[in-house]
Amino acid sequence: MRWWLLILTLLSLPAGAEEPARLDPGASALVATGRGWGGPRPLELRLALTRAVPYRVFLIGDPARLVVDLQGADLGLARPGDLFGADLVPAIRWGKNGEGWSRIVVELPGPYRIDRAGQSARAPLSQITVALAPVAPQDFAPDRSATAALRDLPEPASIPPPAPDYRFTVVLDPGHGGFDPGALAEGESEANLVLVFALELRAALQARGVDVQLTRGDDSFVSLERRMTAARAARADLFISLHADALPEGQAAGATVYVWNPDADSRADEQLVLRHGPDDLVAGLDLTGQDDALTGVLMDFARTDTQPRSRNFADWLVSRMSLMGIGMHGRPVQRATYSVLKSPDIPSVLLELGFISDQDDRANLLDPQWRGRMVQVVAEAVTGWARDEAARATMLRQ
Ligand SMILES: [Zn+2]
Repeated sequence: MRWWLLILTLLSLPAGAEEPARLDPGASALVATGRGWGGPRPLELRLALTRAVPYRVFLIGDPARLVVDLQGADLGLARPGDLFGADLVPAIRWGKNGEGWSRIVVELPGPYRIDRAGQSARAPLSQITVALAPVAPQDFAPDRSATAALRDLPEPASIPPPAPDYRFTVVLDPGHGGFDPGALAEGESEANLVLVFALELRAALQARGVDVQLTRGDDSFVSLERRMTAARAARADLFISLHADALPEGQAAGATVYVWNPDADSRADEQLVLRHGPDDLVAGLDLTGQDDALTGVLMDFARTDTQPRSRNFADWLVSRMSLMGIGMHGRPVQRATYSVLKSPDIPSVLLELGFISDQDDRANLLDPQWRGRMVQVVAEAVTGWARDEAARATMLRQ
């Protein structure tokens, strides 16, 4: 067994016979412990748990990852990306891994070795510390026999397949629903058509490793505010509202993407602040105690960052649509002040798939093959945009 492959069975009780140890995300962190001299920096992963647990650590390759398995630990609802210092590495994922086990996978910014690993129990918390030192690529030694070396412990499930570099959540918002059918034409309702599309799109995104939530998954009414609140609660990285409205006779049809209009009347902001209270609007900025004027400034500040990102996603949609031969409006990207686009810190677009009042658009929306192409358009735009976002995050880190 490799010297650094540590198995600590500190407990005499079998796992599961007591309350699971809980991860305290606030007391846990990933920290850089030295300078990188142009390469990756030494790192230390600190996991605070409500009690000591059996654990093991090892490295795997392609890409270089640190795996920490914990027995009898509950990682709770905290998101790995929220761990302090998560931005030091390309990705952190965690979740349940087989009966009684949890697994933390830290994607490393280069080749490392495990310098030391240990568990200290100082009430009220126990801390597992894993120190990692960067090494030359030829010295990177992922453990190919880690599982075999753990015969005395339950077999962990296989290492999860490489996930996308950047795990993210998309909230899909099929417009209308319930007593609000949206636009109607020839016995078809907008509410139903966009719901069908949203469900198909969800499957395609999930197949690409994207987390998806819907503001409605059936024919029920959801207020505009609740749609935005849902995006916030899901901590959405991207919000896509789906519509297929009606157009007055003779107006051009085809798909259209709307992004927030920055020149909109600022009263929209003020009303929003009054309804929500200032502090739940801009994630990560504590606005408690600020007056409304400052809140407005901070929301503008957040939008300065969000708007180009929304626009970039709109551009991705348009480029994929033209590639897939989807008919578009003459001006495919437009600016609007729709309520659902108002989130200051969540990139948001409203996609008019077409117009239900237009005979060709309606036929497209009812055609599973056309929808399949459009689903592919949006799914590829999402993953392309996510790559841009990951690159942007990397640039911000440097
Ligand atoms: Zn609509």
